Amino acid sequence: MDSIEQLKQDCEGCMRCALGRTRTTLVFGDGNPEADILFVGEGPGEQEDLKGLPFVGPAGQLLDVMLQLIGLDRTKVYICNIVKCRPPKNRDPLPEERSSCSEWLRRQIALVNPKIIVCLGRISATSLISPDFKITREHGQWHELDGRRIIATYHPSALLRDISKRPDAFTDFREIRRVLRELSSQ
Ligand code: URA
Repeated sequence: MDSIEQLKQDCEGCMRCALGRTRTTLVFGDGNPEADILFVGEGPGEQEDLKGLPFVGPAGQLLDVMLQLIGLDRTKVYICNIVKCRPPKNRDPLPEERSSCSEWLRRQIALVNPKIIVCLGRISATSLISPDFKITREHGQWHELDGRRIIATYHPSALLRDISKRPDAFTDFREIRRVLRELSSQ
């Protein structure tokens, strides 16, 4: 029987793409593997690569604040990324890196079995919702992925760079809270 711990162990030595040669630590995921809600970012940054945990740098601190605003924290959510290893100099993960990593994410989603998936940013939304997803136009709209509700919002790094996007992101988070409450009470 596959468990999230087993999957993590299998993933940790992964050399399916070139990022395996440049990473310090593979960043598998963090939080509650039984959560109803799963957040998927892009890929580890510098701090994450050093610590082996997702969203622990400045973007992660903002994500924690946003979670708090809707009554959540890392004991109630699961967090991971499209690619598990840091792309050099934080460049966007390449299509072949995303697809090499997608099997790990697919199995991770199946094991956590969340009711809701939240894509953080364009890379996550174009990987999981639709290849031509436009975050500015389509954030905050619900879609379906294998029978689950899926939605995208701005990446916390984008909210650090451009604070004018924050009100829209908070509207998205409130909508996520509304649907999470609805689905969790069923
Ligand atoms: N940005 C991401 O997309 N993921 C992380 O884990 C950290 C920063």
